[in-house]
Amino acid sequence: MTTIYPKLILDALSKVRYPGTGKDLVAQEMVDDDIRIDGNKVSFSLIFDKPNDPFIKSVMKAAETAILTYVGADVDIKGNIRVKTKQTLPPPPEKLLPQVKNIIAVSSGKGGVGKSTVAANLAVALAQLGYKVGLLDADIFGPSMPKIFHVEEARPYMEEVDGRELIAPAENYGVKLLSIGFFVNKEDAVLWRGSMASNALKQLIAEGNWGELDYFLIDLPPGTSDIHLTLVQTLPVTGAIIVSTPQEVALADARKGISMFTGEKINVPVLGLVENMAWFTPAELPENKYYLFGKEGGKRLAEELHIPLLGQIPIVQSICEGGDAGTPVALNPDSVTGMAFRELAENVVKQVDYRNEHQAPTRKVNVTKK
Ligand code: ADP
Repeated sequence: MTTIYPKLILDALSKVRYPGTGKDLVAQEMVDDDIRIDGNKVSFSLIFDKPNDPFIKSVMKAAETAILTYVGADVDIKGNIRVKTKQTLPPPPEKLLPQVKNIIAVSSGKGGVGKSTVAANLAVALAQLGYKVGLLDADIFGPSMPKIFHVEEARPYMEEVDGRELIAPAENYGVKLLSIGFFVNKEDAVLWRGSMASNALKQLIAEGNWGELDYFLIDLPPGTSDIHLTLVQTLPVTGAIIVSTPQEVALADARKGISMFTGEKINVPVLGLVENMAWFTPAELPENKYYLFGKEGGKRLAEELHIPLLGQIPIVQSICEGGDAGTPVALNPDSVTGMAFRELAENVVKQVDYRNEHQAPTRKVNVTKK
């Protein structure tokens, strides 16, 4: 085993950001100078301003994981929490997000099919229809929402609401946004697996100042993961939307994703399938369709599984460019692509209304327009 010395511990802790400010723990002066090392036993303390700092748990977990990753997996760690001032903790909320009417998980079997692009544009299209919309980017493998919403520089800060310290979401295009990307450097995403990612997700849900929402969309990581399970254990999810391209390999994974949602463990209704990259349309020839990934594979899968096809989104350069530039195409509802996302949003609203009326009487809600 290599010798451990305090500098190594500090180096590891400097890989972890304090989400409240975006600075790393060392720069933020949160590491107490009581680091103790005895063989492979390491103890350290992190100093927080308040005992109810909503980031305590996730920051401590991240600190421990960083030490295990950068110093060695056989290190025996004891992390202590120090608080500068004393405060009494407010009572926990009675029910999580009582002001949120519909919670929709957006998922895909496989990465790169445009799940985040669809989730972002769906959120914007719903906001354009007059609904109150929140979006939680829980895709730990590639949190892209800050870029798509042009809020990369935003740092979630804390605000006091009814005596509780809550994380204020960033907001753009009428959508409130929190992203796991605000919490972690891209290069360190590998650290955010398993229980740590699940804890961060729970915290962003429970301690985000989401307020009243008609639609709360959650952009999940691709495939099947602990995150999916955590989500359904944390919130009453109204339904899931699965995004796939028409390509066979993507459809095979989408099928697995659908059976995960409908399976006993997760048991969330599937609102429908979105066929993304359904065909290519050159901007100068909007009537022409080229089926690069095969024709209507998503539509066929939806028919076969008896789930609604919520929308078919073409491959158009502007969709990709809009994502990169931080101006989602759904902002322009008169464009071909904007119309495709508006139609998707309308179909989602219809499906949710249908579910609320017919299948889940306990969650029956009236969605009101602004
Ligand atoms: P995922 O979330 O499934 O990994 P992304 O939403 O990040 O996928 O999309 C992957 C890439 O494909 C991004 O560069 C995105 O801009 C682009 N893209 C997604 N959907 C479309 C589309 N319909 N037309 C053009 N480009 C698209």
